[in-house]
Amino acid sequence: MPSKTFSVQTRGTFDLFEVTDKIEKIVRGSKVKEGMCFVFTPHTTACLIMNERESGFLEDFKKTILRLIPREGNYEHNRLGEGNANAHIISSIIKPYLVLPIENSSLNLGTWQNLFFLELDGPRTRNVSVQIFK
Ligand code: ZN
Repeated sequence: MPSKTFSVQTRGTFDLFEVTDKIEKIVRGSKVKEGMCFVFTPHTTACLIMNERESGFLEDFKKTILRLIPREGNYEHNRLGEGNANAHIISSIIKPYLVLPIENSSLNLGTWQNLFFLELDGPRTRNVSVQIFK
């Protein structure tokens, strides 16, 4: 099945943007009852995460990631002048894709699982593609 792509306009250097509904809509539109949903973002300074939509947690997540891998640092990649080495590192660790189960024509997520696009070097316009496998 060909992939479907949508774009996300991020607002800050570091930004979380919920994409659960956009992906669920594509899954329902595919008419696939049981299968797999592959969500992919073709960028080296962004990634995708799955977790709880709770403002305290989302703030904790941001603070923790940036404490572990801060924007400022003695990174070799920053000699190019973009200053986004930490964004490349975080994207490499977290990964720019998710694989999700489809059951009964919908995403079979846990009650507290929501899907987020994680911008690490914005603001930018980003693409997310969704491919469904039967
Ligand atoms: Zn770079």
